[in-house]
Amino acid sequence: MILRVRAAEIRQIQLQLVRAYPEEGCGVLIGREKGETRDVERVLGFENQDAAERHRRYLISPEQFLAADRTARGEGLDVMGIFHSHPDHPADPSSFDLEHAWPYYSYLILSVSNGIVAEQRSWRLREDRSRFDPEELEIPSDPASHAVGA
Ligand SMILES: [Zn+2]
Repeated sequence: MILRVRAAEIRQIQLQLVRAYPEEGCGVLIGREKGETRDVERVLGFENQDAAERHRRYLISPEQFLAADRTARGEGLDVMGIFHSHPDHPADPSSFDLEHAWPYYSYLILSVSNGIVAEQRSWRLREDRSRFDPEELEIPSDPASHAVGA
């Protein structure tokens, strides 16, 4: 599988996660799946709902997730993934991530080091939940300005 996130959406994610630093930030990726590619068309950023350890944990509430799912379906799209940051840690899934992830979704992790995005990687949990496998992350550059309708 390939996770394709346009440069504009990547910038939106990076900005949110840099602002959340030194706490973890999070949100969902909305789009559509075409064959082997997941095209992200929209990014929804969330307030980290973790009560105690936001510098190394993130929590998306069921209410946030359901609202995102409704938004996606209203636009004929699906929630395809979850993004979050690792402040001053590599963009590799933690044991906490492994315990709390679900199969199917793309997990985009950005390492934010000293307030700057250092690394961004996407992961998929195996069906048997034993481990994450890396997923290809493709970032097409912005379309030429004359191609934008408005
Ligand atoms: Zn994590």
